[in-house]
Amino acid sequence: MLRRLPYGANYLRWDEMAELRGAIEDKALFRYISSGTSVSSRLERLVEERLGATRALAVHNGTEALRLALMGTRPAAGDPVYIPAVTFVAVAGAVLSCGLVPVPVDVDERCALDPTLLPADAQRVIVAHMEGMVGPLPQGIPYLIEDTAQAMGGRHADGRHAGTAGYAGTFSFHHAKVLTSGEGGLVVVRDPDDWELLRSYHDHGSDREHGKYPVWREGSFYGENFCANEAVAAVQLQQFRHLDEILASLEQHHRMLSTELHDRPDIRQVSRTDGDVKVSVRIELDSPELRDRALNELTDKGLPCWTLDKYFLPGHPVVRDRASVYADGFPWNLDDGSERYRPRSRDGFRATRHLLARTLCLPLAPELDAAGQAQAAKEVAATLAAL
Ligand SMILES: *Cc1c(COP(=O)(O)O)cnc(C)c1O
Repeated sequence: MLRRLPYGANYLRWDEMAELRGAIEDKALFRYISSGTSVSSRLERLVEERLGATRALAVHNGTEALRLALMGTRPAAGDPVYIPAVTFVAVAGAVLSCGLVPVPVDVDERCALDPTLLPADAQRVIVAHMEGMVGPLPQGIPYLIEDTAQAMGGRHADGRHAGTAGYAGTFSFHHAKVLTSGEGGLVVVRDPDDWELLRSYHDHGSDREHGKYPVWREGSFYGENFCANEAVAAVQLQQFRHLDEILASLEQHHRMLSTELHDRPDIRQVSRTDGDVKVSVRIELDSPELRDRALNELTDKGLPCWTLDKYFLPGHPVVRDRASVYADGFPWNLDDGSERYRPRSRDGFRATRHLLARTLCLPLAPELDAAGQAQAAKEVAATLAAL
């Protein structure tokens, strides 16, 4: 087996956990009672510096980050939120759990939301940089959220970091992401006033002075508890110290595999931009049968690979069947059938369904040295050449 652990998980090491040790010795794992500057605050300052974000806020996972970003837009119950037709179901779940209605928008050949399909008056749009591919940004959207769960460290063509170009950006530190603390999440926002609102909402709607019991002003709105855990923030700080090394190693492995894959007319590589995080080489095969043959051959040889089929939301039970735990079907029941809730696709998502059935991703391994990466690239290329 070539690779048992994804990306940052390979870099977890006891001897780099000084912040975790410090938090334990301080006997303070709650961020607002630490004796000095909290680890969570240090993490947020580091992220602001590293990504060029105005303000960052640590939460428990990427889904919560999305929820928080959406609540920060002060929506009306049932407002539509335009989301990519190809993304992890957490995006739809986050929208629904805020009492909003997700509306899938078809994607381009790199599986990024196609901005030309959005209605002219779209208020809330989530784009998702899937598999490290940094997608185009729709213009003129008041609340554009960049889901950067799979693209930590990616950049737009103009140099800005993925996640920092819209109203808000969200990140995940789940086990499978570029950096990991098992579970973990982060939201960044462009406007400091929005950050104040998000901070308050994520701490029960309170004002908070470090070390004190929270206070609620007159007119405080309700909130929830998304406050980061110091032990988790400590692991995330450790992971961040490896980000550049991981990105550079992924670049190197990507170049190797990309060069090894001889261009067969029936197996094409999906183009990558300079700013993409090279978590995988993505290939597009001529037919679903050839894709499945490639999948089986690689799996038989213990070579990791995966499809994007699971991300097709119009066919996902959560979006397709519109079930809800609420007795009245909330918030799906707020879709009154009007134009703004109509899925956005030119062909009923046919071409996208067909594209996904022909797509295969070949993950890259930052933890391998150059010789290991070259060997892995040769094995994958030989398997595909022999199909
Ligand atoms: C992983 C992921 C999420 C959710 O992040 P969690 O930390 O697992 O809650 C959201 N969107 C995308 C695109 C993801 O890949």
